[in-house]
Amino acid sequence: NGFAALGLAPELLQAVADLGFTQPTEVQQRAIGLALGTDDAQGRGSDLMVSSQTGSGKTAAFLLPVLHTILQQRAAQAERERAEYEAAAAQAAERGEAPPKRSKRKNPLHPRNFKAAVPGALVLCPTRELAQQVAHDAIDLVKHCKGLRIANVVGGMPYQMQIAKLQNADLVVATPGRLLDLQRSLQIKLDEVQFLVVDEADRMLDLGFADDLAEVNQLTAQRRQTMMFSATFAPRIQQLAMRVMNEGGANVK
Ligand code: AMP
Repeated sequence: NGFAALGLAPELLQAVADLGFTQPTEVQQRAIGLALGTDDAQGRGSDLMVSSQTGSGKTAAFLLPVLHTILQQRAAQAERERAEYEAAAAQAAERGEAPPKRSKRKNPLHPRNFKAAVPGALVLCPTRELAQQVAHDAIDLVKHCKGLRIANVVGGMPYQMQIAKLQNADLVVATPGRLLDLQRSLQIKLDEVQFLVVDEADRMLDLGFADDLAEVNQLTAQRRQTMMFSATFAPRIQQLAMRVMNEGGANVK
């Protein structure tokens, strides 16, 4: 399977195989390798500006590195929690006490346990239909990733259901208007977003989302990775890329 050489997690390789994808498309080959830093001596992923058409496999070209990064974030978090627990257990043993209880997971849907969602990754799409399609593709790709949660945040849908699903979401696929509504009403915090994708950036600008994009850029983590996809590399897209990406992003045509 041509995806294995890109360094993706086994859970994702399994999902790709289940979908019947045997070889990465051209845009996947280039974008996934660069985003994950597969060929970089330090293994550092780049910010990317990708020119791509629908049908090129662009959705998996950004979802796979995003999901891979989330899996790594979660593994690092689990390792930190395990180390903290072991340290606490060792201290208790020194004092001759019983080991501490492992903290129980609280039901996130109970109002008493409400916390703003703090996703580690965000995909922005210009339209509700596209956001729903991307979320659908993401769900196919995480079928072997235990407990990895995807939330879809789009306009024209009831708030209540979206807010409930947002709790504990690792990846949020959103249209900008509804996302910023939820951010202003403190349902979601964006400062932990380490990976941002802007899909169909040219349509995003056509639909008047430039200010919203600037706001999301401000709200998400400073040291984050960004991928921008667009059918064209028109000057206004290049300007947007200069604003939201480190060094304007490496170009993939
Ligand atoms: P997209 O350009 O993301 O809209 O994808 C177009 C179609 O290609 C979708 O139906 C995908 O499921 C399919 N696809 C994406 N990547 C691959 C691949 N590597 N091999 C075969 N089909 C793919």
